[in-house]
Amino acid sequence: MEIFDKFTRPMRDLRLSVIDACNFRCLYCMPPEREYDFFKKDEKLSVNEAIRLSEIFIKLGVRRIRLTGGEPLLRQDLDQIIAGVAKIPALEDLSLTTNASLLADKAQMLKDSGVKRLTISLDALDPKLFKTMSGNRSSVEQVIQGIDAALDCGFQNTKLNCVIEKGLNESQIIPLTEFARERKLKLRFIEFMDVGNCNQWNLEKVVPSDEVKSIIADKWPLTELEANFFGEVATSHQFEDGKGEVGFISSVTKAFCKDCTRARISSDGKLYTCLFCARGTDLLSLMRQDHTDQEIANTIKDVWEKRTNRYSEERMDALQSPRQHDIVEMFKMGG
Ligand code: SAM
Ligand code: SF4
Ligand code: SF4
Repeated sequence: MEIFDKFTRPMRDLRLSVIDACNFRCLYCMPPEREYDFFKKDEKLSVNEAIRLSEIFIKLGVRRIRLTGGEPLLRQDLDQIIAGVAKIPALEDLSLTTNASLLADKAQMLKDSGVKRLTISLDALDPKLFKTMSGNRSSVEQVIQGIDAALDCGFQNTKLNCVIEKGLNESQIIPLTEFARERKLKLRFIEFMDVGNCNQWNLEKVVPSDEVKSIIADKWPLTELEANFFGEVATSHQFEDGKGEVGFISSVTKAFCKDCTRARISSDGKLYTCLFCARGTDLLSLMRQDHTDQEIANTIKDVWEKRTNRYSEERMDALQSPRQHDIVEMFKMGG
């Protein structure tokens, strides 16, 4: 079965957040000077609830699931969630996004439980800048150990995500590209986005992908590649010397809402149809009120079929006036 929204976009991908807490305080996500409240244990999806929702989404056409957070590796029973989701027939891809600070100890567990691919966030190789950007948590050495552990246990197609913020970490573009090329990782530069309400975003702080691309292409010439599948968010480029690929996720300068096939579930079991939503649909309560799978599937179908979100395409107009209401923070919704 496949379901389509108002713009005939199918629901194919699910970002499933397993936790909202994080051990980092990245400036663009959870600025360190703030206090944060996190969901209590009984407010979060249990292992069985996370697996049950995944099964329902897969019956509705989802083929790829990405586990995220907050920092997913902080969740103690993560292996059980992964094992349960990984064995659902018809699931084609199970991936996980992490800051990698705990990956050195957990890479093997992720592999053994059934994660197929990893995406690792890394914004700076310079140790001091790394500390600044992660809110003075962990260290770049620890993250690199995590990356190497993942490669050692045989993870393939590992990606590195990097957010460049103007005046902060442009100096890292070349060193990170070099690092990724050496380790055969696919580096993807993500434009700094106005998600959440607390990261002091403004358009001036966005470094457009084209700028990053030309810095890289000056040193290593690039050729643009075709998309691998409908709904792929990154535009991929091949290094002409054959040493891998680099990608650009240009949510601000080249919005890709028209291909957006992603649903999101927060760790408190709410369904969101866009990163810029102010409210979600409470699926956890439905499960705890003994609704059947079919009833929950009908709710999801109903929400998706009414979906008209295209915030990134509307951003420039939206920026003309102050936001009417807060949107959900990315660490709460699942990035
Ligand atoms: N904690 C994990 C991590 O950082 O990899 C997973 C969750 S995090 C919210 C997922 C991704 O969102 C990270 O790659 C992070 O860089 C990205 N992200 C967070 N805030 C962002 C922002 N304001 N603009 C662009 N990307 C952002
Ligand atoms: Fe944590 Fe990831 Fe947000 Fe950084 S981007 S604060 S690691 S959830
Ligand atoms: Fe999808 Fe919303 Fe992002 Fe557009 S703004 S690509 S609809 S999540």
